[in-house]
Amino acid sequence: MAVCDTCGNDDQNAFSITRGSDTGTFDSFECAIHTMASRCETCGCRILGHGVERNGTLYCCAHCSQQASAAAQPAPSAPVIASVPDKQVSRWKDDGGAISS
Ligand SMILES: [Zn+2]
Ligand SMILES: [Zn+2]
Repeated sequence: MAVCDTCGNDDQNAFSITRGSDTGTFDSFECAIHTMASRCETCGCRILGHGVERNGTLYCCAHCSQQASAAAQPAPSAPVIASVPDKQVSRWKDDGGAISS
C-alpha cells in the first residue's frame, strides 16, 4: 500500500518513478504524468514522448521550438518564408524551374 503523491489515493498497486534525483509514488500513469512530465515552454502541454530540446529547453514539437526561437528574435522584417530550411527552398526552386521549361 502506498499513497499517490498527486491525488493522495492509497492504492495497493501504486508504483514509483525515479528520474534523476526525483522519485515519486503514484496510483496511476495519469497522476505520474500530472506531476512529473515536462511541459512545453511554448504551448504548455505535457510532453509524453521525447519532445524537442532546443538550447536546453524542452518543447512538445519542432513547431513550438521554432515559435520560441522566433519570439526570442527581434520582430522579423523578412517574410515568413525566410525561416524555411534551405533544403525546402531549393526544392521549390527546382519545381519552379520545371514549370517554366
Ligand atoms: Zn493519484
Ligand atoms: Zn508545444
